[in-house]
Amino acid sequence: MKQFFILLFLFCSATWVYSQQTENLIIITTDGFRWQEVFSGMDKEIGTDKRFNQDDSLNLFQKYWDDDVAVRRKKLLPFLWNTIAVKGQVYGNRLLNNKLDVSNPYWFSYPGYSEIMCGFVDTAVNKNEYKANPNTTVLEFFNKQKRLKGRVAAFAAWDAFNRILDEKKSGIPVIAAYEHFGGKYPSSNERLINTMLDNAHKAWTEESFDVFTHYGAMEHLKTKKPRVLFISYGETDEFAHGRDYKYYLNSAHQVDAWVKEIWDFVQSDPQYRNKTTLLFTTDHGRGDKEKYKWTSHGRSVDGANEIWMAILGPGTPASGEMKNNVQLYQKQFAQTLSKLMGYTFKAEHSVADEIKTAIK
Ligand SMILES: [Zn+2]
Repeated sequence: MKQFFILLFLFCSATWVYSQQTENLIIITTDGFRWQEVFSGMDKEIGTDKRFNQDDSLNLFQKYWDDDVAVRRKKLLPFLWNTIAVKGQVYGNRLLNNKLDVSNPYWFSYPGYSEIMCGFVDTAVNKNEYKANPNTTVLEFFNKQKRLKGRVAAFAAWDAFNRILDEKKSGIPVIAAYEHFGGKYPSSNERLINTMLDNAHKAWTEESFDVFTHYGAMEHLKTKKPRVLFISYGETDEFAHGRDYKYYLNSAHQVDAWVKEIWDFVQSDPQYRNKTTLLFTTDHGRGDKEKYKWTSHGRSVDGANEIWMAILGPGTPASGEMKNNVQLYQKQFAQTLSKLMGYTFKAEHSVADEIKTAIK
């Protein structure tokens, strides 16, 4: 009888552990968004600088300012602070000595996304115009796993993702910039999004507005039910380069609202509910030490190697804002995601270790 109860206990704990597993992944990036705004909200000095506030600091202050930093950052990123920082983890607050850096030596986009996706730094990947990524990404690795094959997809505002994720080699659909959604048989929603994408103002040649990427990805999530979904937003970087602090903050605030929309759907759907991990991060930082350099990044900009990351899911302890004195790296995300999904990411290149504190 005692043995029976031991077996029963083992069975119950095994199914309990299983039910806690991550079975789906959603990886979200917003390009070049600074850790300074993540942890401290709107920057007063930039917001009052005539070069950057489009003569509308009143609107900026009404929307995003509070003297209390805890209130201020919630105004900018309510979902990140009210939900992820309560039920998950947020890394990279250097004011608390929790340091997260890119390890590539370039501090701009292609090398950053390649580092995120490959878990490895290839110093040959040294320009945004770089050819198709020769290195295996964790998305390609997932797509080779029996359980996940054909259920991995990527949506990106920036067209370089066709090369970063090498659509041809990896076999993962990558819908980027001005490409149409829905393939050969778009749904009626996708047909409408495609028409709006075609007819919308095109601010940048290689990049669409985030709204199209978001709703294209949402439709795929709801109708195709991918097991691994990557969504990359780009406006935060574009508006920062454009010296427009209001648009930069508005874009970040909107992305936070979209992450909430995605999570609300995830938690309402039986395939995803309590079985999905969400990782939210950026490809590089920007300047701060010389304040006017917030518009830029790259090796010449002090601090552009400093980033942040937020993670939420059944396999991650609810530690909240991380306060441990530690140095972590962008290249650790790939193995962290892989381990959460129950795999060890192996490739023809080395893969950095997972972030141990992010896994139960
Ligand atoms: Zn940039």
